[in-house]
Amino acid sequence: MPKWNSCPSCGHRPGSGLFSGNWFPVYQCKKCRKTFCHKCGLRNGEECPSCGSREKQKVGEVYR
Ligand SMILES: [Zn+2]
Ligand SMILES: [Zn+2]
Repeated sequence: MPKWNSCPSCGHRPGSGLFSGNWFPVYQCKKCRKTFCHKCGLRNGEECPSCGSREKQKVGEVYR
């Protein structure tokens, strides 16, 4: 599973907000293939910010 040091979509980095640990998961929407994290997704990452779908899969992790 890929590891990044910032969200590939919005550039958010670990260390603040909901996930205050040193990592957070990145998801990809199964409908439109948009990648997003808890910061750039809707409802803390529960819904795709592009199409609003809740059908998503985890595609990687962002580490500090
Ligand atoms: Zn993001
Ligand atoms: Zn979508």
